[in-house]
Parts: sequence; structure tokens; C-alpha cells
Amino acid sequence: MIIEKAAEVLEKHKLCNHCLGRGFAKLGKGSNEERGRAIRFVLNMERALEEKKPLKEEECEICGGIFDRLEDYALLCIDKAKMLEFETFLVGSSFPEEILNREKEIFEKFGLYWEPINREFNREVGKILERKLNKKVNRKNPDVKFIIDPYKEKVRIEIKPVYVYGRYRKLVRGMPQTPLKGYGESVASIICKPFGNAFKGKAVFHGAGREDIDVRMLGNGRPFFVEIKRAKKRHANLEKIAEEIGKSGKIEVFDLRFATREEMERLLSERHDKEYEALVYVEEGVNGADLRKIVQRLGGAEIVQKTPQRVLKRRSDLTRVRKVYKVSGKVIDGKHLKLRIFCEGGLYIKELISGDMGRTTPSVSEIIGKSAVCEALDVVNVEVIEDGSKGTHTKEENQR
Ligand SMILES: [Zn+2]
Repeated sequence: MIIEKAAEVLEKHKLCNHCLGRGFAKLGKGSNEERGRAIRFVLNMERALEEKKPLKEEECEICGGIFDRLEDYALLCIDKAKMLEFETFLVGSSFPEEILNREKEIFEKFGLYWEPINREFNREVGKILERKLNKKVNRKNPDVKFIIDPYKEKVRIEIKPVYVYGRYRKLVRGMPQTPLKGYGESVASIICKPFGNAFKGKAVFHGAGREDIDVRMLGNGRPFFVEIKRAKKRHANLEKIAEEIGKSGKIEVFDLRFATREEMERLLSERHDKEYEALVYVEEGVNGADLRKIVQRLGGAEIVQKTPQRVLKRRSDLTRVRKVYKVSGKVIDGKHLKLRIFCEGGLYIKELISGDMGRTTPSVSEIIGKSAVCEALDVVNVEVIEDGSKGTHTKEENQR
């Protein structure tokens, strides 16, 4: 049966052993080339009995002979990867439509069960590369993908980004989180620079939420990820990078570790509880009785907040409800309070204090019946749920 089919095919079409063997995929063990060679061998024995000329391997109608040049394609890949650090890879290819159609047409005509040419090609180049590079093919999540165009003899490379998790403190006011016109530097620009240099790629900053330009980020810091695109290096000394960022005197990073894209997506999509320290100014004067009222009324309160007027240009006008878990504080002088506010993420603190002309309720102004404003604000903790357990809301921080 097999030999008869093969005879039919080869009498009509010139095929190499790879493409012949691929037409009988899944039959027996071995590579397509071995299968093709064996079939042709037996077929030609039969033809010899019938005194017919042997059907030799000829310039192939399907592949055009690319399987003779597998080593060359592997060398093209190796050349592309010269400067790259990676452990695992995958070979892909882009075959012209006409080749795929021709293959389908021939094999279908004879009712064969075949393996597509690109699959064999990718696998065979992959085997050579594994041997030459001493690295492994990884189908699911390779560090590097080689995409070969066999007929243009070109290789394109795709590099999996490197992800690093960390937390940052912003020690100064007056700095945006991401680059903004009119500001020389940002949290992102200070953090990204040494990452880009160390991993030799393009570093992109992703913060778990953001603080206003005039707000510091202290305490446990804010979680962030750096994604290094087209990273030529996959290893770097993270402690050294942290040290370098610390030299700015404005940003500190800590807890740096390698992460995955999935982890980044999960953490960035969650809403995080936050703790703030606010310096509150009350023109009419403020005292211990006011403070007690604030602590009592705001602790455990649900705050109904319309989008603050100051961000209405950028954000849609909607009403949110956010919980304040706990408030503590002290009177600083006749006109100043310091408040520590632990609340659900997404609550605007400046408006929680001012009341934003009644758009936030209850508010500090509303509770004490006097106009209060936030003079300075620090984020002192951003809670993160890691590995299913609630992140640390450290005692130290609370006692500071
Ligand atoms: Zn062929």
C-alpha cells in the first residue's frame, strides 16, 4: 500500500526524501528523511524487478531543496544570537503561501496523511541548534524565538522581556511618577536607566498605582515592575542596580527580584490598600477635640467621593465609595494636624480632607465644620497580596 502510493506520487512529482517521508507522517519511527529514504529504497527495488528506472531524489517540487541547507539556516540563527544571553529558544518560520498550497495540493490529491513543511523545518533546525548552542528548545515560554524565512534566507529574532519586581520610595516632592513635560526627571526615568544599561534593552516602568507629583512615597514603598524589552542580557546584579538608583538621593528601590509577566499583570490589576500621612492645615484653628471627632467619625467610614474637580479634565465624573479603615493623628500646633489614614485604594486623600466643595463626604472639613486643606501628603504603605497571603502592614510603620 505504502509503496504503491509512493510510486503514484513519485511518478507524477519530483520530491526529496524529506518531503516524501512527510507525506507518510506518523507511520513508523524516525525522521521524515529516514522514512522517505526507506520508502524510495524499497520502491526502487521493486522497480528494478520490473526493469524500470529508479526514481532518484531530485530537485524537490515542494521545498525546492531547503532541507539540504538546514545547517546554513542554523548558522544564520547563531549569527543573529551572537550577542544574546539566553537559555531556551524556539524556531519558527514563515513559509510563502504558495509552498504551503503546493504541498497541500499534492498530498491531498493522493489522500496522504502529512505533516506540514514548516513543522518539520522548525524541528530539524531546532535539533541542530540544540546541538550547536548547547541550549534547549522550549515550546511554551522560550527566551528567544528565531523566525526564519527560508526563501529570503533571513532570520528575525523575538526576545522574551525580562521582568523585575521591586518596591520604590520617592523621598522628594515635585517629581512625577512617569515623564512629564516640564519635569527633568521622573520616578520611572531614574529607575529605568540602570536597568536598561544592565540588561542592554529598553526598560519600561509599571507602577502599582501612582502618587501625585507633590506626594512622597515612603515607608514600605510602592510595588512596581520593570519590563526590559529586547534584553540582550537576562542576568544582572539587582543589588548593584538598587545601589545605583539609590545614588540619586531621590528614589530608593528594594526587594528587587525576577518576576514573570503573569505576576506583573495580576499585581498591577489589583487594587491595593494604602496608608497615608497627611499634614492638615486649618486656618480657623484646630484642637484635640477636633482631632478626636475626626478619628472617631472617619475610622471605619464609607466615603462617598465624586471625581475630584482637579482631575475632572482627565477622568470621567463618577461617584466611588471607598472605605477608611483606621485614622490616627496628633495636633502639631494651633493650625496643624498630622493624620495617619489607612484606607482602601482609589480614595483621593486631598479631597477626603478638604471635602472638595461637598463632592467628598464625609470629609475632615465637614466633620469639624471648618475649612481644612492637605498641606503635605506622603504615602507610607501600599499593601500587596503576595502568593495568596496578605502583605505585611508592618508594626514598625504604624508606630512611627
Ligand atoms: Zn522537499
